[in-house]
Amino acid sequence: MSSSLTTHADSLTTPDTLTWDDQGQPLSRRFGDFYFSRVNGLEETDYVYLQHNQLTARWQSLGPEQHFTIGETGFGTGLNFLATWQHWRQQAKSNPDLHFISAERYPLSLQDLSQALLLWPELAELAESLLEQYPPACQGFHRLIFDQGRVQLTLIFDDACHAFTHFDHPVDAWFLDGFAPAKNSEMWDTQLFTAIAQCSHQRTTFSTFTAASSVRKELEAAGFEVSKAAGFSKKREMLYGHYREKLKQPSNRPWYARPSTLPTATNFARTTTTPRSVSIIGAGLAGASTAFALAERGCQVQLFERGAQPGCGASGNPQGVLYSKLPAQPTIHSRIHLAGYLYSLRLLQRLQKQGQLKQDKHWSRCGVIQLALDAKEAEKQRKLVTSGRYPTALVQAIDVENASRMAGYPLAAGGLLFPQGGWVSPADLCRQLLSHPNIHCHFNQPIDRIHFDPEQQHWQLHGPAGKLIHQIPQLVVANAHEANKFKQLAALPLKPIRGQTSAVDAPSSGLKTVLCGNGYIAPASNQQYCFGASFDLNDLDTRVREEDHLLNLEHIRQISPALAQQLSPQLATARGRVGFRCAAPDYLPIVGAIADSSAFIRDYAELGKDASAPCNTPATHIPGLFVNLAHGSKGMVTAPLAGRVLADMLLNEPPAIESELLQALNPARFIIKKIIKGTV
Ligand code: SAM
Repeated sequence: MSSSLTTHADSLTTPDTLTWDDQGQPLSRRFGDFYFSRVNGLEETDYVYLQHNQLTARWQSLGPEQHFTIGETGFGTGLNFLATWQHWRQQAKSNPDLHFISAERYPLSLQDLSQALLLWPELAELAESLLEQYPPACQGFHRLIFDQGRVQLTLIFDDACHAFTHFDHPVDAWFLDGFAPAKNSEMWDTQLFTAIAQCSHQRTTFSTFTAASSVRKELEAAGFEVSKAAGFSKKREMLYGHYREKLKQPSNRPWYARPSTLPTATNFARTTTTPRSVSIIGAGLAGASTAFALAERGCQVQLFERGAQPGCGASGNPQGVLYSKLPAQPTIHSRIHLAGYLYSLRLLQRLQKQGQLKQDKHWSRCGVIQLALDAKEAEKQRKLVTSGRYPTALVQAIDVENASRMAGYPLAAGGLLFPQGGWVSPADLCRQLLSHPNIHCHFNQPIDRIHFDPEQQHWQLHGPAGKLIHQIPQLVVANAHEANKFKQLAALPLKPIRGQTSAVDAPSSGLKTVLCGNGYIAPASNQQYCFGASFDLNDLDTRVREEDHLLNLEHIRQISPALAQQLSPQLATARGRVGFRCAAPDYLPIVGAIADSSAFIRDYAELGKDASAPCNTPATHIPGLFVNLAHGSKGMVTAPLAGRVLADMLLNEPPAIESELLQALNPARFIIKKIIKGTV
């Protein structure tokens, strides 16, 4: 087989992926092959994948704090996933956790997926949950969460080889699905087998419907022991087996690896327990999201907040806008923002379904229009829409007439419509996240100093007058730029960016969507319009300023003179709120473990001479110290996903985002850049 294709798929919008045969079975147009056995797809899944990976027996031997990871090539209709999930509910007695990682290069449309899943009435309840969260066909990782976090699906819309090359976690069982190798040789490529071997350990098993000799040879060459069994129904044979070798430690960029202070044993064989209690400093979006993600996974969380309630800092604005600016050519920033935007939408929807959030009270999916207010922006938007990268369910062009009709006000321009976007009350979201029974909040509790006790191997949290408040092995600092006051985090390059929002009484709430230009305004909530926000670097003034109200109104005038005219008389009595966004110099969040900088300078000095020098020295971290910081003005988009990413890291679970993005968020990036530049 050839060895090519490790690049990102160009575009995933594949409207004509599928057709139906005369019995209503899904058939791929592109590959001329069926998605599953026409005899009985569900029985085929059970026989080929569940039985030949011995899942029942393996699951029953798992302890309650363990998890099991399945990797799949070709998500297709999700039948394998749903059947596995159902089996998990029935068989995994001690209630451990399931991670299902599935790569799909040609995602089905929501409509095709729902039609395909109608074939399985016995899976209807699970199928409905999948359909509710099924993401639009955007390239990258999408984490879907079911059964209150016990079952997590990481749907990777990408080529399987690329997906698993950028997935950095051991897999316990592989479902090697995909159309027949003769029809889809591009997928069954040497590099795919290399990638899956990289994620395999000595007890990793695999099974596949195919018995093609090319697949058998590739599996053997990659280190798998391969056996043959009778195939399902009319298929003569199938393959199954296990990996012969030990998990390979990735040596690529070891400075970005998970801290060795966390449990490193592979999941299935794991004997060490993951931390079951964690402390967090800060009850804004970053802290609340981290707390919730940990709590959902059974961790006890102690959270300390200086203020009297959640969201006292930048997360306390009445309405945060939920959308993601996108470029025609994806960048690291836009990939993180897009993944975060879609993750936040799913989280809000999940909380709403659980009765924790109410539409139009705590959040609203009223749509966001990003206006093209000048020729440059219009050209950028035109390129984005014609790039074919983004499905219309995510973003679409809207002309000025339709945009004005939708908004309920005459607008200055058309632009882009994010139909799923809207606004959120960040403080309400924080409150709901923190209401999880595993989270114990300590408000009005400032933490002034943190100290690691090497003998006890835990962090001591000290309040005013040096009083010891709490001790814990794992600590997450999520208090924005105030993190710099802890000496262990003083070197993190955090800058506060002043922002003032304006709120006025809503005479009659005519605005129906969020509008964004140089500023933003959301439909009225609690009988007030909220708009803003100013953006001032190097300005620590906490006072509300008249001139900023005027500037905020001017930005609304650019969007809609009619709306600005309506707001203008009330500006004299506008209520202002000043918040400080916390940003890093590269405007990416800072999420992960804190490096031991002197060890880094010593161990990676070679990078200063040759940035591509091979290096195997594992990274040294400050034990048990993590951060979730620097979400800038995009906290609604990045903080919930970052909380999940951090929880995955702390609990040694599969990452919710690709390794490239994890590295881009890694706090060690600043010290590594300095070493490379020779400025340490
Ligand atoms: N497991 C699926 C299910 O439960 O419905 C059926 C999988 S179907 C036989 C094969 C799937 O592999 C299709 O959805 C196809 O789009 C996907 N596929 C084909 N080539 C791929 C590639 N290079 N990377 C990822 N997925 C691919």
